[in-house]
Amino acid sequence: MEEKIKRLLAGVVHPETDRDIVSSGFVDKIAASEERIAVTLRFAKARDPFAAKIKNQAEKLLRARYPQVAVTVYVTEAAPKPVQPARPDTTRDIARVIAVASGKGGVGKSTVTANLAVSLRNRGFRVGILDADIYGPSQPKMFGAEGYVPDAVQEDGADYIVPAETQDIRLMSIGFFIRPTDALLWRGAMATNALKQMIHQTRWGALDFLLVDLPPGTGDIHLSIIGELKIDAAVIVSTPQQVAVADVVRGVEMFRNENVRIPVAGIVENMAWFTPAELPDNRYYIFGRGGARRYAEQCGVDFLGEIPIVQSIMEGSDAGRPGATLDPAVERCYREIADKIVDKVVR
Ligand code: ADP
Repeated sequence: MEEKIKRLLAGVVHPETDRDIVSSGFVDKIAASEERIAVTLRFAKARDPFAAKIKNQAEKLLRARYPQVAVTVYVTEAAPKPVQPARPDTTRDIARVIAVASGKGGVGKSTVTANLAVSLRNRGFRVGILDADIYGPSQPKMFGAEGYVPDAVQEDGADYIVPAETQDIRLMSIGFFIRPTDALLWRGAMATNALKQMIHQTRWGALDFLLVDLPPGTGDIHLSIIGELKIDAAVIVSTPQQVAVADVVRGVEMFRNENVRIPVAGIVENMAWFTPAELPDNRYYIFGRGGARRYAEQCGVDFLGEIPIVQSIMEGSDAGRPGATLDPAVERCYREIADKIVDKVVR
């Protein structure tokens, strides 16, 4: 009998949505016996202006079909939606956010980010990395966290994503969510939302520094990250021959833009020279000499330091251990730069 009643009620249409009340889910309860039919309709919105009309229509239909039975249609309102507890801002316990940027890809921005993170950790700071380089997320590989699948956990009714934790550094990477084979077009479209989620849903916990590995160049992704995260300072990485090109200038300008106003902590010159193992006193300035220092002076940006081409840096990154964890000379190099950054942002 209940099924028959349902079919009848499906003839009643809500004038506003043009959908019948059964498929709209408004029929909450049907109690039917030989003597009595009681139907409860529960409307989606409070004080639905069509409630009375629909109740009458339903009663009329049922009474016409079951003239011997006492028919009543009750109307109730939807229970108020449970108030979602607001998720506490997961970035609230991050003391400083440092963005690492570059004009072009391949200059060593991710390598510098990873090694600076290690140097800061070595100084006893609590460090996290947000790898936002949608075109080449390389932090998982550098920290041996490839294949990590971030867990989702619920706490006090809110969802959080758990970052990878390797070598005492908390790591969240867009690389955990995209495959290298995904089309670039897809990445661009999805990235902004994914990054927002990664920023605000990652259970960062308390950190002294969050380093953000930005995509190379300047673009919408940068603006979106700048809008979501309060960045305290930007570090720009360049190779000697790339430093004068327009991309680096654009990078500096992006942070200095009057709507952005992020202090540029300075420029790091990567791959500054090469020293062969058998000639340890020789420095070969393969890509030119002193370019970044000159450029920094010209545009009023500090020069933070230089890093030579070192085999252990490359090999370490490939093996899931940043060079600064393997080679004391490399660590010293990055530590000098890290110290300068700390002096600038921790006052
Ligand atoms: P980006 O993030 O700017 O695209 P990466 O950090 O991925 O660049 O570096 C590009 C390549 O250069 C990597 O293979 C990395 O191991 C290597 N590399 C970066 N810096 C150095 C360095 N100082 N010495 C040796 N190899 C380096």
